[in-house]
Amino acid sequence: MATNSGVVIAGAGPAGVALALLLARRDVPITLVEASPSPARQFRGEALMPSGLAALAAMGLLPLPESIAQRPLSGWGFWANGQQLFQVAEPLGSDHPCTLVDQEALLDWLLQQVRAQSGTRVLIGRPIRAPLLDGERVVGVELDDGTQVHAELVVACDGRASLLRQKAGLNLQRLGAAIDVRWFRLTGAAATPLSQWLRGQFVTVLGSGDSFALYASVYGGVQLGWLQDEASRVPTDLADWRERWAQASPEALAQLLRACPLKAIQGPVRLPVQVGCLESWWRPGLLLLGDAAHPMSPLRAQGINMALRDALVAARQLLPVLGQGSGADLDRVLATISAERLLELRPIQASQAEELARAELLRRNGWLRQLLVASAGWSGPLLARRWQSSQALLRQGCTATELTLPDAAMME
Ligand SMILES: Cc1cc2nc3c(=O)[nH]c(=O)nc-3n(C[C@H](O)[C@H](O)[C@H](O)COP(=O)(O)OP(=O)(O)OC[C@H]3O[C@@H](n4cnc5c(N)ncnc54)[C@H](O)[C@@H]3O)c2cc1C
Repeated sequence: MATNSGVVIAGAGPAGVALALLLARRDVPITLVEASPSPARQFRGEALMPSGLAALAAMGLLPLPESIAQRPLSGWGFWANGQQLFQVAEPLGSDHPCTLVDQEALLDWLLQQVRAQSGTRVLIGRPIRAPLLDGERVVGVELDDGTQVHAELVVACDGRASLLRQKAGLNLQRLGAAIDVRWFRLTGAAATPLSQWLRGQFVTVLGSGDSFALYASVYGGVQLGWLQDEASRVPTDLADWRERWAQASPEALAQLLRACPLKAIQGPVRLPVQVGCLESWWRPGLLLLGDAAHPMSPLRAQGINMALRDALVAARQLLPVLGQGSGADLDRVLATISAERLLELRPIQASQAEELARAELLRRNGWLRQLLVASAGWSGPLLARRWQSSQALLRQGCTATELTLPDAAMME
């Protein structure tokens, strides 16, 4: 069986659902295909930087409805060897503070709006099996049951392990070694005193060879992400994990962690992260966006933000050429989108890598940590200023990125 559609979008994560909405609002026929039957995931990132909030604003989507849980971060705190190095209060000179948003509810709300547009099909729980090819050109996709959906353009927003990227023979340039993150959620009554200790901050803790971050989640409880070093021993059970966190923590936090009953700890969820980027995000008839084009490091919460900005730039460039019948014109625009987004993505990924390298130096280097801790009284404010000034790109994105759409009417 074959069906026809203007644009097929693979994947209903932030990149896919935002692009679907922007195109559908301008009457572009859309088929949005999502493999997973439900938006629920074991783990979802939830921090939106000012760069992502600016993209949502340009899409006409702010303020978000109150039914979507959201909370601004109060700041960032850094601790080493049980002592506070420094803290910085939000919004660090930005227009908006970094804001925690229930991503599942956000995606669900965006999906409802996509469904409400005429000429739109949303296929949930239907994995794409392969691209359809006419010579070199991608002309649609084949679904798991053999259904073929033909399209003028296929946009792969199918995440970091993108099947369409692999089938198109596009290879990621890998940036650095893979990072292994173990994710935990601390729930129930035991999480309340932890949330109170955190005071709305995103806190990073560096101990002897260990490093983790924790914050009070909009999903309830406290999320804790542990950066696993290939050289260090992986704790064997939850009691062992809890003790490792406590040993790296300041005394007050250590006590709260040790008081947390094991049954209140969910996890670990292992998230292997290989950061990378495609040199070129397109093939004739195929565009890749979001993690499919540039799997991001979780550091300083960039992925959702970049995915939203990809969608906005792609929509601005695509709207004038879609439905015009010229494959050559369309491909030229795909090359333009790729080049425009790389101007932001490359420096952002480089900035994440620099920040990770600084944190790793401190984590591995006991005497440097001790030196900073011992001098925190005077070096803390200096470190805070230096850290804050290194954050501009990771918070605002590249200021040259034009966050506009061709027609103000789109920004309802
Ligand atoms: C530990 C960790 C913490 C993070 N925290 C944050 C954070 O706080 N803030 C932030 O901005 N970013 C964060 N990120 C990154 C962020 O989650 C991703 O960068 C972002 O979700 C990418 O969006 P996307 O739309 O490109 O892809 P995804 O969100 O991965 O969506 C891809 C979709 O495609 C679907 N799909 C896959 N294959 C197929 C197929 N064959 N057919 C159809 N559909 C398919 C998937 O089911 C999925 O729904 C974090 C990442 C990690 C690893």
